Amino acid sequence: MRIAWETGGSGGSGGKVWHLTFRLDAEDAITGHCSDGQALKLATNSFRVELPRAPREIHPDLLALAAWTVVAPWTRRRIAFDRPVSPELAEAIETGWGIEAGPVGGAPRSGSRPAISYSGGADSVAVAAMLPDAPLVHFQRVPHPRVPNRWTHYRSDVLARLAAETGREPVIVRSDLEFTIAEPRPGYPEHHAVAAGALLLADELDLGGLAFGYELGSRWLGGDRYLLRYTPDNPMWSAHGAWGRAFAAAGLHIVLPVGGVSEAVTMRLALGSSLREQVRWCLRGTDGPCGTCGKCLYKELIQAAVERRPLRTTVTADRGVARKWQQPPPYGGQEMIEYGCARVPGIEETVFATAAGFLQATEASTAWLERCYPPAVEEVPEPWRKQVHDFMATEIGFMSEDEARRVETWGLS
Ligand SMILES: [Zn+2]
Repeated sequence: MRIAWETGGSGGSGGKVWHLTFRLDAEDAITGHCSDGQALKLATNSFRVELPRAPREIHPDLLALAAWTVVAPWTRRRIAFDRPVSPELAEAIETGWGIEAGPVGGAPRSGSRPAISYSGGADSVAVAAMLPDAPLVHFQRVPHPRVPNRWTHYRSDVLARLAAETGREPVIVRSDLEFTIAEPRPGYPEHHAVAAGALLLADELDLGGLAFGYELGSRWLGGDRYLLRYTPDNPMWSAHGAWGRAFAAAGLHIVLPVGGVSEAVTMRLALGSSLREQVRWCLRGTDGPCGTCGKCLYKELIQAAVERRPLRTTVTADRGVARKWQQPPPYGGQEMIEYGCARVPGIEETVFATAAGFLQATEASTAWLERCYPPAVEEVPEPWRKQVHDFMATEIGFMSEDEARRVETWGLS
């Protein structure tokens, strides 16, 4: 794989719009696999990242890592960057992926502030509540000039507007990088590609860390990759995993402030925060969440459980988005289905009735999902660990040893 960055300006390091073109080597293939195991078919070999302003300079490691978040799935043996990368970053790519990276030269970078990779969903709003001084970097999908947009229902404009209305320091980055994927659908080639803009702005904003809203389920209970499995070595999000080490090598540490708490806790934090009006997990609605998609149904179960009220939905059991809840477990995000089924009054009258019957969850059996898993705080990089620890100690409380064992035996019983 060979990559080349160009700016819309006079070349060099100036410019608001950065274009990346990549060329596959003979051993590369147009179908590859990203870190969560998903097969991805390439659609096109170029994309752009439009920054809100032209940065003064961008360290070569940041340009390289931003490119890597997109091209990693299709790289088989080596990657040639267009600027020398630090030995530290090359080493991280070599050990993390078995890919030879170069050319090598120059010193690594570092920074001091944290920023938040902000989607506007409940999890990232909870992170924003925990890190009140951090800028919110929001990724906005824009159409690709050479790929038809068949996903017009995805209202990236609404999410960007809501991010701008938070009153926080908003940093909106626009990119068409999701259209590099033809199949299964447009999206981030690696989950970390959402950070492409934050990476290019990391020197400008003096960033040393990037906080994501990945919660207990995504980080420790299998997330998107595994069902019902404790995943201390999660390759996407563990500090010692391939991506954790690559970001650290580029001086932009991955920070998971809510990695130790469930979506019930992030929902409660988000609904109780000053950004409550800007919380939006649905990518379809314009004036509010659509209320009919699978994501809305799942989040409504959690919100109803947190608010201790009956489920409010028009979705019926015969709808496609409700079909999986008519089947036996396991389910993705099962811990939250158990939590909701144990707490929503009248659950037996809803589309989750069958699932509730299978799961037989109780408030006692799901109480561990209301507290913080301590190893998640130990994993937070040192500059922000105390802040996260103190927030959890004050606002949430930590799991007992028995409760932590629920995390560590998830899927075994
Ligand atoms: Zn929806």
